Amino acid sequence: MNVPLLDLKAQYKSLREEIRLVLDEVCDSQYFILGPRVEQMEEQLAKYCAVPHAVGVSSGTDALLGALMAAGVGNGDNVLTSPYSFFATAGAIARVGAKPVFVDIDKRTYNLDPGELRRVIEKMDGAERENTKAIIPIHLYGQCADMEPILAIAKHHNLVVVEDAAQAIGSEYKGRRAGSIGDFGCFSFFPSKNLGAFGDAGLITTNSPENYKMLVKIRMHGMEPKYYHQYIGGNFRVDALQAAVISVKLKYLDSWTKKRQHNGATYRRLFSEAGLEQWLQLPAEIEDRHIYNQFVIRVFQDRDKLKEHLLANGIGCEIYYPVPLHLQKCFSYLGYQEGDFPVSEDASRQTLAIPIYPELSQDQLCCVVEQIEKFFKRK
Ligand SMILES: *Cc1c(COP(=O)(O)O)cnc(C)c1O
Repeated sequence: MNVPLLDLKAQYKSLREEIRLVLDEVCDSQYFILGPRVEQMEEQLAKYCAVPHAVGVSSGTDALLGALMAAGVGNGDNVLTSPYSFFATAGAIARVGAKPVFVDIDKRTYNLDPGELRRVIEKMDGAERENTKAIIPIHLYGQCADMEPILAIAKHHNLVVVEDAAQAIGSEYKGRRAGSIGDFGCFSFFPSKNLGAFGDAGLITTNSPENYKMLVKIRMHGMEPKYYHQYIGGNFRVDALQAAVISVKLKYLDSWTKKRQHNGATYRRLFSEAGLEQWLQLPAEIEDRHIYNQFVIRVFQDRDKLKEHLLANGIGCEIYYPVPLHLQKCFSYLGYQEGDFPVSEDASRQTLAIPIYPELSQDQLCCVVEQIEKFFKRK
């Protein structure tokens, strides 16, 4: 049996007519960039994320860039973040001219460890601390970072909090939606995210009317009024076609999330029946509403061989992420070394994402667990 890591065709099949209708409407209007479709999407998403303001942008990466620019982070500033994330988180920091300062993760959730955060800040000298302007916690795999202590530390040191919620639309921390907790929330609608567009798109959320005004300018080259530029922004505009697709899909997001959570619960039952505790660990579900963008198991030994075995047997799987950011070649100038962030490094050697998408059948879930059991017990 084939079990892909993600099957977007299955989802499209159920939405085909509805989506083609709105795409036609956009084509007939010939209104392609921003405009009423984008405003509608922003309103719906602001409501969904429980914030007063949302700004549609061109990608999750540009959401991070735009938020940092709007926060005034730039040359000579430090920004704290985790080395265990998709590249864009640290890439955006470097691209505004700031320096990524990494903080190791919690080994159960793979999210930024507040204790480590305190330790890293304490180790800084006065000037370094003075130049530290922001922090980007990531809600990895769809589960919120431990925001309460992070917010307290941010407040104490006067840091702007930018949530990287690219994998976490609709996830919750103590009853609060991802993207509504910090100063800015950054979302991605890359097709493989839980709410995926038909190309690149993203969103920035904020509770502050001042931040909102700034974000709208930054999205359009820092322009206000037309052809007058007080700030240097970018072209971070989002297409009406993408907004139309996102608006249609948003109606189904909660039902898809339920199915992902259901699949996660089924995995927990199947894995426990298979008795594989000595070989692997299932993801910890600690915060309120985990939306399971990924279901990531920790494989104590032979992770790469298990991956090969699964792929050879038609089971999709992927390593998120094989190289922690502090060891990426492009960041060698930061001077980090192997051993600096042991929890992240262990995670990069042991984690493996297995299929969790909503349309999976019970048989497919069984097949994934059977193949993993077969590998370890050499049945
Ligand atoms: C996907 C992702 C991004 C980037 O989003 P794009 O839309 O691909 O630019 C940033 N951070 C994290 C954690 C992501 O998963």
